[in-house]
Amino acid sequence: MKHIEKDFGTPEVLDYENELKKNLLDKDSLSDNSVHPTMKGKHVYDTVKSFSSFEKLKKILFDEQGGICCYCGCRLEYPKQPQYIVEHVFPKEKDRTIAGEYENFLLSCRPTEAEEKNRQKVSKKEGRKFFHCDKSKDSEVIAITPLQIDCHKYFVYDEFGGVKGVDTKAEKDIETLNLNCKWLCDRRLAAIEGEIYDDNFELLPDDELRQRLETIMNKDATGKYAEFCFVVKNVIEGLL
Ligand SMILES: [Zn+2]
Repeated sequence: MKHIEKDFGTPEVLDYENELKKNLLDKDSLSDNSVHPTMKGKHVYDTVKSFSSFEKLKKILFDEQGGICCYCGCRLEYPKQPQYIVEHVFPKEKDRTIAGEYENFLLSCRPTEAEEKNRQKVSKKEGRKFFHCDKSKDSEVIAITPLQIDCHKYFVYDEFGGVKGVDTKAEKDIETLNLNCKWLCDRRLAAIEGEIYDDNFELLPDDELRQRLETIMNKDATGKYAEFCFVVKNVIEGLL
Protein backbone atom coordinates (compact mmCIF):
# COMPACT_ATOMS: atom_id res chain seq x y z
CA MET A 1 0.00 0.00 0.00
CA LYS A 2 1.15 3.47 -0.78
CA HIS A 3 -0.01 6.71 0.83
CA ILE A 4 -2.33 8.76 -1.40
CA GLU A 5 -2.36 12.46 -0.71
CA LYS A 6 -5.63 14.29 -1.23
CA ASP A 7 -5.72 17.84 -2.57
CA PHE A 8 -8.96 19.56 -1.58
CA GLY A 9 -8.00 22.78 -3.33
CA THR A 10 -8.12 21.80 -7.02
CA PRO A 11 -10.88 23.44 -9.13
CA GLU A 12 -12.26 20.00 -10.04
CA VAL A 13 -12.62 18.98 -6.39
CA LEU A 14 -14.14 22.35 -5.44
CA ASP A 15 -16.66 22.12 -8.32
CA TYR A 16 -17.61 18.61 -7.23
CA GLU A 17 -17.97 19.56 -3.56
CA ASN A 18 -20.17 22.52 -4.57
CA GLU A 19 -22.44 20.26 -6.59
CA LEU A 20 -22.57 17.88 -3.63
CA LYS A 21 -23.62 20.69 -1.27
CA LYS A 22 -26.16 22.13 -3.71
CA ASN A 23 -27.87 18.73 -3.77
CA LEU A 24 -27.62 18.34 0.03
CA LEU A 25 -25.53 15.19 -0.38
CA ASP A 26 -22.43 16.42 1.45
CA LYS A 27 -21.34 15.12 4.84
CA ASP A 28 -22.86 17.99 6.87
CA SER A 29 -26.24 17.86 5.13
CA LEU A 30 -26.53 14.08 5.35
CA SER A 31 -25.63 14.07 9.06
CA ASP A 32 -29.09 15.53 9.55
CA ASN A 33 -31.51 12.59 9.35
CA SER A 34 -34.33 14.84 8.13
CA VAL A 35 -32.36 15.53 4.91
CA HIS A 36 -33.14 12.89 2.26
CA PRO A 37 -34.58 10.77 5.11
CA THR A 38 -34.94 7.51 3.16
CA MET A 39 -31.72 7.78 1.19
CA LYS A 40 -29.06 5.16 1.94
CA GLY A 41 -25.36 5.30 1.05
CA LYS A 42 -25.74 3.33 -2.17
CA HIS A 43 -28.38 5.77 -3.45
CA VAL A 44 -26.24 8.74 -2.47
CA TYR A 45 -23.43 7.35 -4.59
CA ASP A 46 -25.74 6.42 -7.48
CA THR A 47 -26.89 10.05 -7.53
CA VAL A 48 -23.45 11.68 -7.39
CA LYS A 49 -22.24 9.46 -10.23
CA SER A 50 -24.55 11.39 -12.55
CA PHE A 51 -23.13 14.79 -11.54
CA SER A 52 -21.53 16.74 -14.38
CA SER A 53 -18.46 17.32 -12.16
CA PHE A 54 -17.97 13.62 -11.38
CA GLU A 55 -16.09 12.67 -14.57
CA LYS A 56 -13.48 15.35 -13.94
CA LEU A 57 -13.20 14.21 -10.33
CA LYS A 58 -12.37 10.69 -11.51
CA LYS A 59 -9.51 12.08 -13.60
CA ILE A 60 -8.21 13.80 -10.45
CA LEU A 61 -8.37 10.50 -8.55
CA PHE A 62 -6.48 8.79 -11.34
CA ASP A 63 -3.79 11.47 -11.39
CA GLU A 64 -3.31 11.63 -7.62
CA GLN A 65 -2.69 7.86 -7.59
CA GLY A 66 -0.32 8.08 -10.54
CA GLY A 67 -2.47 5.55 -12.41
CA ILE A 68 -2.02 2.60 -10.05
CA CYS A 69 -4.51 0.75 -7.85
CA CYS A 70 -4.85 2.18 -4.35
CA TYR A 71 -4.37 -1.23 -2.73
CA CYS A 72 -2.31 -3.57 -4.89
CA GLY A 73 -0.41 -1.12 -7.13
CA CYS A 74 -1.35 -2.68 -10.47
CA ARG A 75 -1.78 -0.33 -13.43
CA LEU A 76 -5.22 1.21 -13.98
CA GLU A 77 -6.27 2.22 -17.46
CA TYR A 78 -7.94 5.55 -18.04
CA PRO A 79 -10.08 6.63 -19.77
CA LYS A 80 -10.19 3.77 -22.28
CA GLN A 81 -11.62 0.45 -21.14
CA PRO A 82 -11.76 1.55 -17.54
CA GLN A 83 -10.22 -1.12 -15.37
CA TYR A 84 -10.94 0.74 -12.18
CA ILE A 85 -13.72 1.06 -9.67
CA VAL A 86 -14.32 4.14 -7.56
CA GLU A 87 -13.66 2.69 -4.15
CA HIS A 88 -15.21 3.93 -0.91
CA VAL A 89 -12.50 3.58 1.71
CA PHE A 90 -15.15 3.49 4.40
CA PRO A 91 -18.03 1.43 2.95
CA LYS A 92 -20.93 3.48 1.61
CA GLU A 93 -23.30 0.85 3.04
CA LYS A 94 -22.08 1.64 6.56
CA ASP A 95 -22.05 5.46 6.52
CA ARG A 96 -24.22 7.40 4.09
CA THR A 97 -22.71 10.75 5.13
CA ILE A 98 -19.43 10.06 3.31
CA ALA A 99 -20.85 7.99 0.45
CA GLY A 100 -20.38 10.94 -1.91
CA GLU A 101 -17.37 12.66 -0.34
CA TYR A 102 -14.12 13.01 -2.27
CA GLU A 103 -12.17 12.34 0.96
CA ASN A 104 -13.60 8.80 0.94
CA PHE A 105 -12.90 8.04 -2.74
CA LEU A 106 -9.97 6.11 -4.18
CA LEU A 107 -9.57 4.15 -7.39
CA SER A 108 -9.19 0.40 -7.15
CA CYS A 109 -8.44 -2.12 -9.90
CA ARG A 110 -11.29 -4.17 -11.29
CA PRO A 111 -11.18 -7.61 -12.88
CA THR A 112 -10.94 -7.76 -16.67
CA GLU A 113 -13.78 -9.31 -18.66
CA ALA A 114 -11.72 -12.46 -19.22
CA GLU A 115 -11.07 -12.78 -15.48
CA GLU A 116 -14.75 -12.28 -14.68
CA LYS A 117 -15.62 -15.07 -17.12
CA ASN A 118 -13.10 -17.45 -15.56
CA ARG A 119 -14.48 -16.73 -12.14
CA GLN A 120 -17.99 -17.46 -13.28
CA LYS A 121 -16.90 -21.00 -14.11
CA VAL A 122 -16.46 -21.84 -10.44
CA SER A 123 -18.86 -21.55 -7.50
CA LYS A 124 -19.45 -18.16 -5.91
CA LYS A 125 -17.50 -19.16 -2.80
CA GLU A 126 -14.56 -20.45 -4.83
CA GLY A 127 -14.76 -17.46 -7.16
CA ARG A 128 -14.03 -15.03 -4.37
CA LYS A 129 -10.45 -16.23 -4.11
CA PHE A 130 -9.81 -14.89 -7.61
CA PHE A 131 -10.89 -11.40 -6.63
CA HIS A 132 -8.73 -8.87 -4.89
CA CYS A 133 -8.82 -5.22 -3.79
CA ASP A 134 -12.28 -3.61 -3.97
CA LYS A 135 -13.94 -6.71 -5.41
CA SER A 136 -12.68 -8.78 -2.50
CA LYS A 137 -13.16 -6.10 0.16
CA ASP A 138 -16.81 -5.49 -0.73
CA SER A 139 -18.36 -3.68 2.25
CA GLU A 140 -15.78 -4.76 4.84
CA VAL A 141 -13.91 -2.17 6.89
CA ILE A 142 -10.12 -2.25 6.72
CA ALA A 143 -7.85 -1.05 9.53
CA ILE A 144 -5.04 0.36 7.39
CA THR A 145 -5.87 2.50 4.38
CA PRO A 146 -3.87 4.36 1.70
CA LEU A 147 -5.07 7.61 3.28
CA GLN A 148 -2.73 6.96 6.24
CA ILE A 149 0.66 8.55 5.73
CA ASP A 150 2.48 5.54 7.25
CA CYS A 151 0.38 2.78 5.61
CA HIS A 152 3.44 1.35 3.81
CA LYS A 153 5.02 0.40 7.15
CA TYR A 154 2.40 -2.28 7.78
CA PHE A 155 3.19 -4.46 4.75
CA VAL A 156 6.36 -6.40 3.97
CA TYR A 157 6.89 -7.87 0.50
CA ASP A 158 9.29 -10.70 -0.28
CA GLU A 159 11.23 -11.29 -3.50
CA PHE A 160 8.92 -14.19 -4.43
CA GLY A 161 5.85 -11.98 -4.81
CA GLY A 162 4.26 -12.59 -1.40
CA VAL A 163 3.19 -10.02 1.18
CA LYS A 164 2.95 -10.26 4.97
CA GLY A 165 1.42 -7.91 7.53
CA VAL A 166 3.55 -6.66 10.43
CA ASP A 167 0.69 -7.22 12.88
CA THR A 168 -2.68 -8.96 13.09
CA LYS A 169 -4.51 -5.88 11.79
CA ALA A 170 -2.40 -5.81 8.64
CA GLU A 171 -2.72 -9.58 8.21
CA LYS A 172 -6.50 -9.26 8.41
CA ASP A 173 -6.46 -6.48 5.80
CA ILE A 174 -4.32 -8.62 3.47
CA GLU A 175 -6.97 -11.32 3.78
CA THR A 176 -9.86 -8.88 3.27
CA LEU A 177 -8.21 -7.43 0.15
CA ASN A 178 -6.91 -10.89 -0.89
CA LEU A 179 -3.50 -9.38 -1.60
CA ASN A 180 -1.85 -12.80 -1.62
CA CYS A 181 -4.00 -14.25 -4.41
CA LYS A 182 -2.13 -16.07 -7.16
CA TRP A 183 -2.78 -13.41 -9.81
CA LEU A 184 -1.23 -10.69 -7.68
CA CYS A 185 1.69 -12.82 -6.45
CA ASP A 186 2.57 -13.75 -10.05
CA ARG A 187 2.31 -10.14 -11.27
CA ARG A 188 4.38 -8.82 -8.35
CA LEU A 189 7.01 -11.50 -8.86
CA ALA A 190 7.39 -10.50 -12.53
CA ALA A 191 7.76 -6.83 -11.59
CA ILE A 192 10.32 -7.63 -8.86
CA GLU A 193 12.37 -9.95 -11.08
CA GLY A 194 12.59 -7.25 -13.73
CA GLU A 195 14.21 -4.90 -11.22
CA ILE A 196 16.50 -6.92 -8.99
CA TYR A 197 18.18 -9.45 -11.32
CA ASP A 198 20.53 -9.05 -14.26
CA ASP A 199 20.19 -10.88 -17.59
CA ASN A 200 21.82 -14.00 -16.10
CA PHE A 201 19.33 -13.99 -13.25
CA GLU A 202 22.00 -12.94 -10.75
CA LEU A 203 21.00 -10.50 -8.02
CA LEU A 204 22.22 -7.02 -8.89
CA PRO A 205 25.07 -5.66 -6.77
CA ASP A 206 24.09 -3.36 -3.88
CA ASP A 207 25.15 -0.15 -5.61
CA GLU A 208 22.89 -0.92 -8.57
CA LEU A 209 20.03 -1.84 -6.27
CA ARG A 210 20.53 1.49 -4.50
CA GLN A 211 20.34 3.27 -7.85
CA ARG A 212 17.05 1.52 -8.64
CA LEU A 213 15.78 2.55 -5.23
CA GLU A 214 16.45 6.20 -5.99
CA THR A 215 14.23 6.26 -9.08
CA ILE A 216 11.65 3.53 -8.48
CA MET A 217 9.13 5.92 -6.89
CA ASN A 218 9.43 8.55 -9.63
CA LYS A 219 6.48 9.22 -11.90
CA ASP A 220 7.09 9.04 -15.65
CA ALA A 221 6.61 11.91 -18.11
CA THR A 222 2.84 11.25 -18.20
CA GLY A 223 2.53 11.37 -14.41
CA LYS A 224 2.26 7.64 -13.88
CA TYR A 225 4.01 5.38 -11.40
CA ALA A 226 5.55 2.10 -12.48
CA GLU A 227 3.31 -0.84 -11.69
CA PHE A 228 4.00 -2.20 -8.16
CA CYS A 229 6.65 0.50 -7.57
CA PHE A 230 6.16 0.48 -3.79
CA VAL A 231 6.41 -3.33 -3.76
CA VAL A 232 9.76 -3.29 -5.58
CA LYS A 233 10.97 -0.49 -3.28
CA ASN A 234 10.12 -2.54 -0.19
CA VAL A 235 11.80 -5.68 -1.57
CA ILE A 236 15.01 -3.81 -2.45
CA GLU A 237 15.06 -2.16 0.98
CA GLY A 238 14.80 -5.62 2.51
CA LEU A 239 17.70 -6.91 0.43
CA LEU A 240 20.11 -4.10 1.26
ZN1 LIG B 1 -5.74 -3.63 -6.93
